[in-house]
Amino acid sequence: MSDSQHPAALRPETDVLTRGFDPSLSVGSARPAVFRSSTYVFSSPEAAERAFDIMGGRAERTPEESVDLVYSRFNHPNAQILEEQILPLEPEAQAAAAFNSGMAAIMTTLLTVVRPGDRIVYTVPIYGGTQTLIQGFLEPFGVQGVAVAGGQGEAIDAAIRATPNLRVVLIETPANPTMVMTDIRRAVKTCAAMAEPPLVMIDNTFLGPAFQHPLALGADVSLYSATKYLGGFSDIIGGVALSKDISLMNKIRSKRSLFGNILPPDECWLLDTRLPTVHLRMNRQSKNAQRIAEALAKHPKIRRVYYPTLFEDPEQTRIYREQCTYPGGLVSLDLAGGKRAAFDLLRNLQIARNAVSLGGVETLACHPRSTTHSAWSAKDLDEAGIGEGLVRISFGIENWRDLLHDFERALDKV
Ligand SMILES: *Cc1c(COP(=O)(O)O)cnc(C)c1O
Repeated sequence: MSDSQHPAALRPETDVLTRGFDPSLSVGSARPAVFRSSTYVFSSPEAAERAFDIMGGRAERTPEESVDLVYSRFNHPNAQILEEQILPLEPEAQAAAAFNSGMAAIMTTLLTVVRPGDRIVYTVPIYGGTQTLIQGFLEPFGVQGVAVAGGQGEAIDAAIRATPNLRVVLIETPANPTMVMTDIRRAVKTCAAMAEPPLVMIDNTFLGPAFQHPLALGADVSLYSATKYLGGFSDIIGGVALSKDISLMNKIRSKRSLFGNILPPDECWLLDTRLPTVHLRMNRQSKNAQRIAEALAKHPKIRRVYYPTLFEDPEQTRIYREQCTYPGGLVSLDLAGGKRAAFDLLRNLQIARNAVSLGGVETLACHPRSTTHSAWSAKDLDEAGIGEGLVRISFGIENWRDLLHDFERALDKV
């Protein structure tokens, strides 16, 4: 957006540094203090009564009203600061909730809206914990999951139209580890045409918040494992849910109060310090990944590189171009020599370390078939393209020439 259109609107990288924190509430400190108190002293008995009325849903907070804090399982200043400062990073978000893990964000958001008898359509592959949550936990409680292959627009439309009592469409895009992309706008449109439109929730961990903006594409909730790019240093477990719908977020927050899975003050403070650099880090990670993915695409020991700029399917390329601004820091390499070659590569890398997880400033590589996806059947793995030779890499911010050299040298030993 140009300055002439919105003179007052700050861009995300600026806004994240200028909102949500009032130094005068922290003895003038330039950065937020950590408020480790478990409970808060009320300004008056009337203010306490008012805070409980609002919390209990018996009264509505007025826009300008400042409500007394009560107890840190419900809310605390560091969560408030984090939830305010993260908003500009997710275009169109009006409210956020911080959780003590990505799984907590996903679980709490789903349990806020589903009831026994409801159904959830979800794309596969999906994060293993999410799949177990739906199949192994929600199904016995009477909430049925309907799995559809990611990227298959028509099949997803058909599932949305054919599933009775559909409450949620949960999409993870791109999918791990083959980067298959699902068209968010298309799913939103199909849902909006239903008599009772289900909520569209996007697990935006892989390309957000820098390169993919689900709320701006019409989704209802954007979900994150903040453990990954938001946290960025592989030293924190956290999660965030964001939405345009303030009343939905209040419902999610009230379930969070009940479950007790708010992100604690120290972790909120730590995550808050990482927000202003998430664009810098992700841009560097994406540039590194793209240079190396494209340099290795023709390597004789590599059968195929899974990366958005190297997609072979025109429909996947279309979704990538319309939905994402950059390809991101995750690359999967399919080695011609199978499992042995993949293990040799992992054993011989000197800069990249063999670990699961992603999004940190350091480069990590893993073998999905024997680790993150080891619970899958051989048939499902083969169908999803998760072969014996597949290695997934999360590129960090090291110098890309050093990284490329590390991979070329390790490939020589395969
Ligand atoms: C890691 C991850 C999760 C789970 O997040 P935690 O912070 O480990 O609970 C969910 N979705 C995706 C895509 C992830 O990568």
